[in-house]
Amino acid sequence: MKTNDFIIIHHSATARDKTTLNAINKVHQKLFNYKSSLGWYVGYHYFIAGNGIIRQTRKDADYGAHCRADNMNSKAIGICLSGNFEIEQPSEKQLVSLEKIVERLKKDYNIKNDNILGHCQVLGAKTACPGKNLLSWIERY
Ligand SMILES: [Zn+2]
Repeated sequence: MKTNDFIIIHHSATARDKTTLNAINKVHQKLFNYKSSLGWYVGYHYFIAGNGIIRQTRKDADYGAHCRADNMNSKAIGICLSGNFEIEQPSEKQLVSLEKIVERLKKDYNIKNDNILGHCQVLGAKTACPGKNLLSWIERY
C-alpha cells in the first residue's frame, strides 16, 4: 500500500528556465513507462518550474517513479524543481512554492521534518540530486 511518510526532493538536472514538463514526461515514459492516474508519466508527484508554477502530475496516493532507494516510491511524495542545482541556483519563486507544498503536505499527512529529504540523503541512493544549492535549503529547513 502507498503511504505518505516522506517527502523526497529532486532537481531535473537540466536547465532551470528551459526545462518543460512535457520533456520530463517523455524521458520518464521511456525510462519507467508508468502512467499516473492523472495521465502523466512524470515520476514525481509535483513539478516546480523555474517561474515557480506548481504542476501536480501524480495524485499523492499514486505510487511514485522517482526514487527506488529505500523503497521510497511506495512511501514518499516526490517533488522536482526544474534546474541543475549543482551549477545554478533555484529561483526565489521556486523556493516559495516548494515551502508552500512542503508545509501543506506536512500538515495533511503528519510528515516529520526528519523525513523531508533530498534524493541523495535517502539510504542507498547514489546521486548528487537535488544538487548542492538546493540541498543547503533542505538542510536549513
Ligand atoms: Zn532525484
